[in-house]
Amino acid sequence: MNFFKNLKEIYKKVSEVESTIYSGKQDYLEIYERNLELEKEIEERTRELNIANKRMLTLQHIWDMMNASRPLQSVLETIVNSIQGELGYLHCNIIKKCEDENGIFMTVLAQSDDVSIKRVDRLIKTPIQTRRLVYNPESVYAKSAYSREIVQTLDIGGTLKSVVPDVADSVIKEIVDGSPSKSIINIPLFSRGNHFGWFNVFSSRKEMTTGETDFLTMFAQQIEMAITIAGLFEEVKAQAVTDGLTGLYNRRYFEEYMKKEVTRALRQKQTFSVIGLDLDHLKEINDKYGHAYGDLAIRTVAEVLKRNARSIDTAARMGGEEFNVILPGVDSNGAMAAAERIRKALEEEKLETIGHITASVGVATFLEHSDNIEDIMELTDQAMYQSKRNGRNRVTMAKPITETSWQEIAINTFTDILSKHNVPLDRNFADALKEKLTHPQNEVPKDALYSVADMLTRIYNPLHHNGVMKAKVLLAVSLAKRFDLPKEEIDNLRIAMLLYDIGNLMLPPELLQKPTPLTEEERNRIKTHPIIAAREILKPISDIQDVIPIIEHHHENWDGTGYPDKIAKEKIPMTSQIILIVDAYFALTQPRTYRAELTPKQAIEVIKQDAGKKWNNALVQEFIALIDIDT
Ligand code: GH3
Ligand code: MG
Repeated sequence: MNFFKNLKEIYKKVSEVESTIYSGKQDYLEIYERNLELEKEIEERTRELNIANKRMLTLQHIWDMMNASRPLQSVLETIVNSIQGELGYLHCNIIKKCEDENGIFMTVLAQSDDVSIKRVDRLIKTPIQTRRLVYNPESVYAKSAYSREIVQTLDIGGTLKSVVPDVADSVIKEIVDGSPSKSIINIPLFSRGNHFGWFNVFSSRKEMTTGETDFLTMFAQQIEMAITIAGLFEEVKAQAVTDGLTGLYNRRYFEEYMKKEVTRALRQKQTFSVIGLDLDHLKEINDKYGHAYGDLAIRTVAEVLKRNARSIDTAARMGGEEFNVILPGVDSNGAMAAAERIRKALEEEKLETIGHITASVGVATFLEHSDNIEDIMELTDQAMYQSKRNGRNRVTMAKPITETSWQEIAINTFTDILSKHNVPLDRNFADALKEKLTHPQNEVPKDALYSVADMLTRIYNPLHHNGVMKAKVLLAVSLAKRFDLPKEEIDNLRIAMLLYDIGNLMLPPELLQKPTPLTEEERNRIKTHPIIAAREILKPISDIQDVIPIIEHHHENWDGTGYPDKIAKEKIPMTSQIILIVDAYFALTQPRTYRAELTPKQAIEVIKQDAGKKWNNALVQEFIALIDIDT
């Protein structure tokens, strides 16, 4: 029996042990669960802390930037990008409220650079940032501006449609359906009590936590502060008369002073001269040694000007790397000597790291070259550019205003375009073309021009033949003569013929040489972009201002269905109509990747079909008569 007794004891012990173990286990489980809970809580707190930390860092960053007085645009861009990137919003932008004679509208002042906006821009063709956005009094914009409070809207499609009503509903739907955005948080911005614009945040959530509201409000306040500070800064700057970098007078002061000088000169019948100076190759200095050395070069010019100016001379930095000096009582000979002294003194300076720098200088004299001050400034500038064209580091005296031949204007225009690198050309190629234009002695200047135009055309149209440009110009001129256009207009037409397609250089080559049919968007780009580009390229060139309108309208149709302005009939310059018809004729009689060339007879048939539509009837008749003589 002892055995059983013992067994019972053992059982008892075992169960005792078991129950201790069990209760221990219970305790353990409880502790374990509590630990889990705690860990979760810690994790949560850490996450919150991290977010708070990030927010603080972002704010800190913005503060630093504002203290470094960076330009407003760049401060705002950093703000939107930091919110979008660091805090997980899909897109952020700052919209400015604007007003002109057509009423209130809105523009994007800064936007985050992210995939969402890239997708929207792709779908709506004209990027949001370049658009004039519609201010709809029913929209969330009006609502938040009026209530002065944050407004969150889930109606992304409706909000988008309200600002870009020209975009088709189907496109809006495609944008909304394919986007992870669930709401827009719209915060009105005020600067010194006035409504300035809005701060928009595209969120992937439908709701907003209190913390988020507080945080975004705080952010909006930072934006408001940046805008207000920039505004105050502008005001202070507008009152300043000197330039921060050099201590020279600024443009504002110079212009005021010059007005007084003109009055004095006219009253006392005493002349004064203007020296215009532009640093050579500053861009290269910046690229090679950095902006700080570029600044050093600019400061050195200023030092040289100060040292070489008499006490009554006034030197100013007009902006960038451009300087002017007024020399009261000095005629053109005296001014040439002074300019040469300045040029030489600059050339002799030895700068740390950079070495030597040079400048190109132009001189004009009031009452000698013109008694109109705008002309004097223009002539100074032209003389300075002549110094650039002749090889830089030299002084050129203005030529009194005389008639310049169209070849000279065209050569200067091409040289300008090629020197300023504002078309994307290989540098060596550009230099080779320039070379062709600078040595016209051994060539008839006209032929050098035609050949440069042919070579430029071949970049975007590999099928273009040498000699076509000359043939086109001659045909256009013959046609213009049949309409008895005055000499100046014919000269402008010749220059326009050489330049009307130059904007094509700004189109990406993949687009121009695309073997498959173009999409509507691509076709539109090929249509309108070159006109816009041509205007941009040609705008800074003063000699050809009368040529630009001719180029701008060379795709307008007689019946008003052309582009860009849809003007009709006599509103279209005759010269533009001539370009349109000559261009069409050459396009038809030359092969294209997608079709063979037409014979002149076939081409004329095609042109006749559009008489009264694309071109005026009389023009078509004269054109046919002209071609008949030729063929
Ligand atoms: P060119 O001899 O034809 O005048 O050549 P360039 O490089 O001097 O002229 P361009 O007009 O091509 O470039 C002017 C450059 O000057 C571009 C611009 O970034 C730079 N620049 C303008 N203002 C400043 C400035 O305040 N500081 C510095 N470092 N660079 C400036
Ligand atoms: Mg320069």
